Amino acid sequence: MSAPTFDTGETTARVVWSRVIDRARQELPEGSVAMWFQGVRPTTLEGGVLRLLTPSDLVRDRLARQYLSLIRAAASDAMGGDAVDVELATDPEGARAARRAAGHGEEAGEEPGEEEASEPASPAPRPGSREAVAVSAAGIPSGYSFDTFVPGPSNRFAHAAAMAVAEAPPSRAYNPLFISGGVGLGPTHLLYAIAVHMTRLAPVLRVKYVTSETFMAEFIQAVRERQGYQFAARYRDIDVLLVDDIQFLARREETQTEFFHTFNALQAKERQIVIASDRPPHELSGMEERLRSRFRLGLCVDVQPPDLETRIAILQVKAARDGIEVPEDVLELIASKFDQNIRELEGALLRVAAFASFSGKPVDTELAGRALVDLLPQSESDVPPEVIMDETAAHFSLSRADLVGKSRSRPLTTARHIAMYLVREQNGLSLVRIGELFGGRDHTTVIHAISKVEQLMRARGSTYLQVQELTRRIRARSRGG
Ligand code: ADP
Ligand code: MG
Repeated sequence: MSAPTFDTGETTARVVWSRVIDRARQELPEGSVAMWFQGVRPTTLEGGVLRLLTPSDLVRDRLARQYLSLIRAAASDAMGGDAVDVELATDPEGARAARRAAGHGEEAGEEPGEEEASEPASPAPRPGSREAVAVSAAGIPSGYSFDTFVPGPSNRFAHAAAMAVAEAPPSRAYNPLFISGGVGLGPTHLLYAIAVHMTRLAPVLRVKYVTSETFMAEFIQAVRERQGYQFAARYRDIDVLLVDDIQFLARREETQTEFFHTFNALQAKERQIVIASDRPPHELSGMEERLRSRFRLGLCVDVQPPDLETRIAILQVKAARDGIEVPEDVLELIASKFDQNIRELEGALLRVAAFASFSGKPVDTELAGRALVDLLPQSESDVPPEVIMDETAAHFSLSRADLVGKSRSRPLTTARHIAMYLVREQNGLSLVRIGELFGGRDHTTVIHAISKVEQLMRARGSTYLQVQELTRRIRARSRGG
C-alpha cells in the first residue's frame, strides 16, 4: 500500500477496516454486518490504535460489547500480527459521510427519520424522490416514530415486539414479525417506526416499506414489461422488508406466488421481514396456506382498540406535537366519544382545535361538543369513497371526473384536497389507495393534501365550515342507505 507521506494512518485505517468487514462477513449473518459494521467510519490507525466513528451510541456500545474481539483479531491479522487496540466514538456526521460514500446520500441534509414529536406536521417529502432505498426517500410521513407511539395494555405486546425487531439485527425468533390490528389502531404506525428507528441506527441498512398493493402493482407492471428479473432482484437485495396491508393480496394468486418467493429468498439470507395486516394469519381467507403458515413461523402480535387512558394519552401526544393547548376535560370528552379508531380520534381533536383557532374562542367542553356534533355517532361502517368524492365535488359545483383529473386550478385543487382528507378520515383507506382513486396520484401527494387541509382548517373558518358541512352530508347519505 503506497500511502501518501502525509497520511496520518488514514489510509491504513481504511484498509484494515475493510479487512475487518471481510472477516465479519465470513463469521456473521449479513444482517448483523449491515446493522453494526457498515455505517462505521475508520479514521486513523496510529501507535497500534484503530479509531472508529460509529453512527450512534447504540452501535458503539454493541461493537464494544459483542464484536470487539473480532475487530481486534481481524485488524491484527491485517497488520501482519501486530496487536491492534480499538477506540470507539460516536459521530453522526461520520454516519452521514458513510451513507454518502455508500451511494445513499444524494439527499445530503435530508436525513431519514428526522421527525421529532415536537415538529409540526411537515410538508410532504419531495415528490419524485428516487427509489426507496433509504426510508425517507420512500416517503414515510414524518411524525411516526416510537417516540410518538403511546404504549398501553391494548398494544403493549406489539409495541415491545416491534421495538425488539427495530433494535436487533434479523432474528430468527422474530422473523417474520406479523402485526395484526384493525384499520386505524396502529399497525402502520409501528411499521413506520421500525423503519425510522433502523435507518437512524444504521443508515446504510436497506429498508423498504411497501404496501401489498404497491407490491402487486409493481409486479404486474414488471410482468407486462418483461422486467420480472429486475423486479425480483429489487426486492431480494434489501435488509429489511416491511409489508403493510398484506390482506390485499387475498385472491391475487400470481402476486402471492411472487411474494412467496421473495419471502423465502429474504428469509434464507436472514433478512428481516415485518408484515402488517388487518387480521391474523389464520383469518386471511383467499391466501395460500403455504403463505399463511410462513407468516406464523415467527411471532404474531395483535393490536386491540385502546382503553380510555391510552386514548387520552394519545391525544396528549398529538396535541403536544401540533402545539395545540387543550384542557384535560376536553381531551377526556373526545377520548370518551371516539373509542374504535385512533385516526378518527385524532380527526376529532383536530376539528376542535381548528374551531377554536379560527373563531378565537377558548377550548372548552361546550366548544368541543359543537365541533364534534357532525362527527357523532361514529361511523359504524365505512363510507364508500365514491360517496365522499361525489358529495365533495357537488359542494364545489364540480364533478367526480374533475377531482380525479389533471387540472390544478385553484378551487379545484382545494376541492380535491378536501376530498382526499375526508376519504382518509372517514374511510381509512391507505394513502396509496387514495392516490390511485384520485387519478393515479402518488401517495406523497396525498400526504401533502391532507396536511394542507389540516393547516387551512385551523387558519380559515371557511375551510373548517366546508369540511364540517361535507361531513354532515356524507354521514347523512351513508346513513340513509
Ligand atoms: P393506518 O390506519 O393508516 O393503517 P394506523 O393504524 O397505524 O394507521 O394508525 C392510525 C392513526 O392512529 C395514526 O395517525 C397513528 O399515528 C395513530 N396511532 C395508532 N396507535 C397509536 C398509539 N399507540 N400512539 C399514538 N398514535 C397512535
Ligand atoms: Mg394500516
